[in-house]
Amino acid sequence: MGQPLSLPVIQKYSCHSCGNCCRQHEILVTEEERQRILGQNWTEADDVPAGMKAFVRVGGFFSKQYRLANREDGACVFLDPNNRCRIHARFGEAAKPLPCRIYPFAFHPAGDKVAVSLRFSCPSVAGNDGKLIEQHRQDLHVLRDLVVPPSVAQYPPPAISPGQQLDWPDTLRVVEGLKGVVSEPHEAPFAMRLVIALFVAQMLGKATFDKVRGGRLRELIDTLAMAAPEETGLATGSIDDPTTLGKTQFRLITAQYTTRDTTAAAGLGYRLRKLQHGLEFTRGKGMTPEMHPSLPPVAYADLEKPFTCADAGVDELFSRYFTVKLDGMAFCGPAFYGLPVTEGFMRLALIYPITMYIARWITCADGRFTLTAKDAQKALTIVDHHHGYSPAMGMGNFRRRVQWLIAHDEIPRLAMHYAPETDRQGEVE
Ligand code: SF4
Repeated sequence: MGQPLSLPVIQKYSCHSCGNCCRQHEILVTEEERQRILGQNWTEADDVPAGMKAFVRVGGFFSKQYRLANREDGACVFLDPNNRCRIHARFGEAAKPLPCRIYPFAFHPAGDKVAVSLRFSCPSVAGNDGKLIEQHRQDLHVLRDLVVPPSVAQYPPPAISPGQQLDWPDTLRVVEGLKGVVSEPHEAPFAMRLVIALFVAQMLGKATFDKVRGGRLRELIDTLAMAAPEETGLATGSIDDPTTLGKTQFRLITAQYTTRDTTAAAGLGYRLRKLQHGLEFTRGKGMTPEMHPSLPPVAYADLEKPFTCADAGVDELFSRYFTVKLDGMAFCGPAFYGLPVTEGFMRLALIYPITMYIARWITCADGRFTLTAKDAQKALTIVDHHHGYSPAMGMGNFRRRVQWLIAHDEIPRLAMHYAPETDRQGEVE
C-alpha cells in the first residue's frame, strides 16, 4: 500500500482531446514499452510507421534510449486526425507509455504523503475545465504505484534556504504559510499579495530557525506579512519600476519560456534563430520575433503600455496556480532542480510577470489593451510548459540570471509593472 495522496481539491481537469500534449512533448520510452508497442504490430495501413520507424534513437549510435517518433508538424506518430491516441483507442489507456499516462499530473514527496500537482501547459487544467481532481483519485492511486517508490519517507525535505533545513512537518508549515499569504482570499489584487509573499520568502531566506518551530513558524510568517506593505513600499504606492537592466534580464528569461524545444522545431536553423532572438530580446526595440505559433510579432513598445483588466478570472487563475504548485510541492526540491523552498518560491513568483507579459502579447496581437482571463490562461499554458521541466532552466546561466533579479529586488517591481493598471491601484490590508 502506497503513501496517502494529497490532492489539489480546488482544481478540476478532464481530457478534452485537444492533442496539445501529444504535439509539444517528446516521449521517451523504456525498453519494455518499446517492445510492447512493437508487439502491437502497427503497420502503414494504420497510418503509423511500421516497426522501428515509430521510434527515434536518443543519443549516439550505441545508445539504447529511444523516444516515439514525431510527424513533420511535431505530432506523435500515434496521434490520429481527431487528436486521439491510436494506442489508447485500440489497446486501452494502460498500453500507452508511462509519461503519456501521467500527464498532466505530477507526483512529489511531501512528508508521509505524496503530493499531486498539475501542469498548466494543459488548457483544460489552466481553464479549470472538467471533473474535480478528487474524482480522479482511483486512477491517481494506480499512477502513484507506478511512479513513486514504496517509501517516499526516504526523501529528505527540501532546504528552506542554503544551510537551513527543517523537518518535514515544519517545512510543510512554511509552504502552507506562503500559500496563505499569496493565494487565500483577500481584498488586495493578486500582484500585491505576491509582493507581500516575496518579502516573506526573502526574509525567511535570511532567517535561522534555531528557536522557531511548530506554531511559531506560522506566527513569524504572519508577522512578516503584516510588516510587508510598509517595508516594500506597497502601503504608500512607492514601488519603483524595474530598472533597464532588470527589464533586459526579464525579457531574456521570458524569451526562454516561449521557446519551442521539440526536435521537430530544432536543428541548426533553430539554434541560429535562437541566437538572433536573444539579441533582439536584449535590444527590446521594434517588433518582437515570432517565437511561438500563438505569438505573432507585436511592437515591444506596445507591451509596455498600460493594460486594463476587469476580469476577476485572472486573479482566480493565479491564486489557483500558486495553490496547486505549492500544495503539490512542484516548486522546489526534487521537483524543481533541487532548489530550496525560498528560492523555488521566488522562481515561481516570476511566473506572474512572465505570464502577464505573454498575455499582453496575445492581447496586443488581437488589437486590444484590455486583458481577459482567457488571454492569461493561454499565456500560462505557454509559460508552464517549461517551468521545472526544461533542462536549460536548471542550469547555471539561467539560474544566475534569476538570482540577479532576486538580489536586485527586481521581481516585485516586475510583478507590479506588468500587472493590469487596475491592480496597481488596489487596496492593500
Ligand atoms: S503515444 Fe498516444 S498519448 Fe502518447 S504522445 Fe503519442 S498519441 Fe499522445
